[in-house]
Formats: sequence, structure tokens, C-alpha cells
Amino acid sequence: MNMKMRAAVLYEPKKPMMVEEITVDEPQDHEVMVKLTATGICHSDLLPIKGDIPQTYPVVVGHEGAGVVEKVGAGVTGVQPGDHVIIACVYNCGKCHSCINGQPSLCLEALPWHLLGGLPGGGKRLHRGNQDLNIMYSQGSFAEYVVVHERQVFKVSLDAPLDVVCLFSCRLTTGIGAVANRAKVRAGDRIVVYGCGMVGMSVIMGARLCGAGQIIAVDKVEERLGLARELGATHVINASTENPQMRTFEITGRGADFAFECIGNPAVMMQAFGSIHTTGTCIIVGATPAADMISFFPFEFLYGKKLVGCFFGNLRQNDLPNYVDLYMQGRLPLEKLTAGYYTLDQINEAVDAVDKAKVMRAVVRF
Ligand code: ZN
Repeated sequence: MNMKMRAAVLYEPKKPMMVEEITVDEPQDHEVMVKLTATGICHSDLLPIKGDIPQTYPVVVGHEGAGVVEKVGAGVTGVQPGDHVIIACVYNCGKCHSCINGQPSLCLEALPWHLLGGLPGGGKRLHRGNQDLNIMYSQGSFAEYVVVHERQVFKVSLDAPLDVVCLFSCRLTTGIGAVANRAKVRAGDRIVVYGCGMVGMSVIMGARLCGAGQIIAVDKVEERLGLARELGATHVINASTENPQMRTFEITGRGADFAFECIGNPAVMMQAFGSIHTTGTCIIVGATPAADMISFFPFEFLYGKKLVGCFFGNLRQNDLPNYVDLYMQGRLPLEKLTAGYYTLDQINEAVDAVDKAKVMRAVVRF
């Protein structure tokens, strides 16, 4: 039995998505159908929309879904109909080298399915007429319903506001995890954060939770720097009027222990690398278009500077619900981040607002 629903379908890059009626199949073994209440709109959604990453079209974009479990396939044990859930932006198999070494966000099985636009195993559950539709990151949340693998689904408490906690499906977790899991920031560490969008703000909030001694926020927009201070930044640098590398060395007295690049801009990545001391670590969190390159002076690595990447916060399996708990305890002041709410019919307008950085918490409510 398949069911009709509405979804935003992207037929080709650089064109508006079409909101139209499509069909969705029943969940199969280990799959869960979720009736979405909300989905965040992340900067990564812009990559297939602009044609900046390899993607199979037509595709239903979106990977920050939250909602109520509608149906479960055979073998699903973690959730049942009626549960409130958020849907992680990456699948993990639980069995590969990365998963058994505690790094499920780097699951070796997940990437091919993400790139091919299907569920783990290759299944396509969305159709328009006889045509199969692809889904972004094995999710495709710009739709009224999703069918996803159970390992991407995380139960949250019934009082957690789904139009807020959907942001933990990708961006919030990406930032907090980069600090807690990748950098493993310790009390007193001095860090610098390049880019005060949603991910950068999450790094700042995560660094405060981890006890960083100095949290330096870099951006070109004064309003964002003000907000960064409210969220925990101890110092701010306006990169349009100051040299962020020199200022970071002045503030820290030695260079930062950790620099986080949260924009996805190769030139800024080099600035971030130039802001750490000789044994510091620069962590690339922002996603660039697939063709971008960066170059470095190799001598800097000989002494011990490190340049590493971090995908989806190097998430451990229970981090996602744990982070939601931190929010529910009042320890992540997300309400300070500007919010914009949209309907599915306004999806192209909402994506444009994200692209132009008009709003941080851009959320579609269904
Ligand atoms: Zn994302």
C-alpha cells in the first residue's frame, strides 16, 4: 500500500523546488515512517539545490526532520507509533570499522547511500507516477512524511518542542560535537570560531559547556557578534575591520589551542589555520562545494600544527538525545537565535532566506 503526500521535489539544480503530490511506500524491515511536524533548513541543503555536490535528481532535499512515528516496519525495536522523534542527518550501520570504534557519524556504509539518494540498501520509497524519487542524506525531510532507517531515528520526550529540537538533527549537533568529540576541548582552553552562523553559534555554546577559557568569535556582521557574546563568546573580532589572525594571537597571547572553521570558505580555512599556535589544531566544520581546494605551507605541519575535519560532530550514538536533554535543562539558549517559520509551500522562499543569512533557525512547520 502506498500513500499520497505532498513534498518539495527538486528536478534539477538552480531551479525552484516544486511542491506537489507524490506517493510514499510503507516502511519495510527496520524502517520507520514519520509524520513530520517540522524540519530545519540547513546550509547543506543549498549544496544540491545549487548543484555544488554530486547528487542524483529528482530529489527531495532536507535532513533536519522531526515528528511523530506513524508506522514501523518489521524488526524495529527502538520506537513505536506515537513516539516523538528527531531524525539524524546520517545513517550508521553499527557494524563497520568506524561504528565499532565509536565514530558512527563516519560510518563507512552510509556514504554510498547518501550519494545515491536512497535508503541504506538502496531502497527508494518515494515515487511520482512511475518515477522513483531520490532523498537527501537518506532522509528527504522537505515532505509531509519520511521513511527512514530506524538507526537514524531518535526518541525525544513528548514535551520537547519539535520545531526547535529538529535543529539537533544536523547543525546544533555538528557544532557541539566538533567541540566535545573532535577537539575534546578542556577547561581553560582558548578557542577561536570563524563564522557565527548556526553551526558557529553551536560551537560557541558547546565550548562554553566544555569550559573553554577564551571563546573568540569571528564574523563580519556586528549583529551576529553581539549574539555570539550573549551565547558565550568572551571576545569578538569583526573580520571586516580587523585582522582575525593577529587579533587572535593578541587575545590568546600564544595562538588558539583550537580554531573552528564553520563557513565552508577555503580562504577562511587558511585564516583559521593561521590562528592556532605551533601545536594547536584547526578543525574544518564547514562544507565547501566539492571542487574547492586549499593550500598550506608544509613546514607548519613539521612542528605539530594539525588540520583535521569533522563531519556531523563525530557523533556518538547517544549524543543526539543527550544534547536535546541539555536544551531541555535550559543549558542551550536556542531561543536567542533568530527564528523564521515557513509552510511547505513557502519552501523556496525559506531556502532563499537561509542562503541570504536572513534567519538562523529557518524551520518549515507542517
Ligand atoms: Zn545539515
